[in-house]
Amino acid sequence: MYDIEHYIDGTVVSGTSGRTAPVYDPATGAVQGQVALASSDEVDVVVASAVRAAAQWRESSLSTRTAILFRFRELMDSRREELAQLISREHGKVPSDALGEIARGMENVEFACGFAATLKGEYAEQVSGGVDVYSLRQPLGVVAGITPFNFPAMVPMWMFANAIVCGNAFILKPSEKDPSAALFIARALTEAGLPDGVFNVLQGDKVAVDRLLDHPDVAAVSFVGSTPIAKYVYETGAANGKRVQALGGAKNHMLVLPDADVDSAADAAVSAAYGSAGERCMAVSVVVAVGGVGDELVAAITDRIGKVVVGPGTDPASEMGPLITGEHRDKVAGYLATAEQDGADLVVDGRERTPAGDGFFLGASLVDHVHTGMSVYTDEIFGPVLSVVRVDTYEEGLALVNDNPYGNGTAIFTRDGGVARRFQFEVHAGMVGINVPIPVPVATFSFGGWKGSLFGDLHMYGPDGLRFYTRTKVVTSRWPDPATSSVDLGFPKTR
Ligand code: NAD
Repeated sequence: MYDIEHYIDGTVVSGTSGRTAPVYDPATGAVQGQVALASSDEVDVVVASAVRAAAQWRESSLSTRTAILFRFRELMDSRREELAQLISREHGKVPSDALGEIARGMENVEFACGFAATLKGEYAEQVSGGVDVYSLRQPLGVVAGITPFNFPAMVPMWMFANAIVCGNAFILKPSEKDPSAALFIARALTEAGLPDGVFNVLQGDKVAVDRLLDHPDVAAVSFVGSTPIAKYVYETGAANGKRVQALGGAKNHMLVLPDADVDSAADAAVSAAYGSAGERCMAVSVVVAVGGVGDELVAAITDRIGKVVVGPGTDPASEMGPLITGEHRDKVAGYLATAEQDGADLVVDGRERTPAGDGFFLGASLVDHVHTGMSVYTDEIFGPVLSVVRVDTYEEGLALVNDNPYGNGTAIFTRDGGVARRFQFEVHAGMVGINVPIPVPVATFSFGGWKGSLFGDLHMYGPDGLRFYTRTKVVTSRWPDPATSSVDLGFPKTR
């Protein structure tokens, strides 16, 4: 058993609220630690630290900030394996998945290292006689990030790298389910030379979130999590005058057209549906089989599922780990029972392919002949369950995606460039893959969904991230012509 505490002013600080939450080892089902849950008063202490730090930090030069971030990048690079093991222990995902999330997160650190090239204002000369207008981008002050359990390293990196290089102090409120990665990152930032208080970690739950949302010194909130909480965070933060970006849940569809390469579509569907046990907001959860491709595709996916090795992250052979909690595993398994009752065809039942023991495992499942009224279709399941909906035409498949209340990612598999282009033009989703199942943008672009998958205006990380963490100031300046000066400046009186 170990304790997971806050990180304030460059050091670990024990919680004082008397409230804690258990942290499980999902592979064994045992409680392995307990995380402090902050009280409202503890939030105030963290915010006060960040306010002090932000005032100093915004005075630092761009090159100082960049140098610190470069050092952080080097430290993290040398500790990838260690962090991956840590993530695997608390989240359950296998180390190769954890290494993947670290790599995708580090892209954002690398992007932020080059922020000085991007973060510039504009200048308009001589808008009137002797008058110039220019814009500056300045930090907001104290900003907070509230993150989900499923990417305990990557999602924080989506946020804080850009936030701190822009001159803000950042408070991270990680998920209470796998909170240790946040401390690992905090220590590395301090070691890299980040001044105390510029990056604080506040462990907690709704109590901490609610205080961050109404604290007058928190200027902006970045949130990633489920749709109901994203909506709540957006509405509450905005009502309190804060800038908010709140990314929510998803139900990502992958259209497979009759001309697609079935083998590569099946490979893509399996890795995108069952990677990280389906606990990814960009996981494919619905394959839409268009025309006659359904039977061959379902057979190819079934064949591949048989080869997915489910087991603990400590076993190098494991390809898919457990779910985050026993409660969540049971909820996901419940969808399989309901789908069967609703008349869907349970082609592969993950409940029959679960390793022995008390770990929160559930094998990969495939449900065919799913209809839009079934809960396996309507709900975000967030587990290793892939539904197949069969439609006759591309238009029907497109309508499914566009009618869905979520709009995070979607993908199309086809050999026809014209259809792919049409799909990109008319589909209602924020991120589109063409023969790419999980189209998470690289860090030089920004990440965000549409509809119920994002509340706010700006997407996360990349250029939108720099915009989110700065505000513009426009300066209009007039300097009299030196020829008119009453003081002799050595400037000619006539030209
Ligand atoms: P969650 O919404 O339960 O929790 C997210 C964060 O909100 C956590 O830090 C948690 O402590 C806090 N929180 C939970 N309940 C709260 C409440 N009632 N009031 C205030 N704060 C609260 O999400 P999760 O289960 O940790 O993560 C999975 C969800 O996140 C899925 O829905 C997934 O699709 C989504 N997600 C979305 C993206 C994206 O980019 N759109 C990325 C990753 C995960």
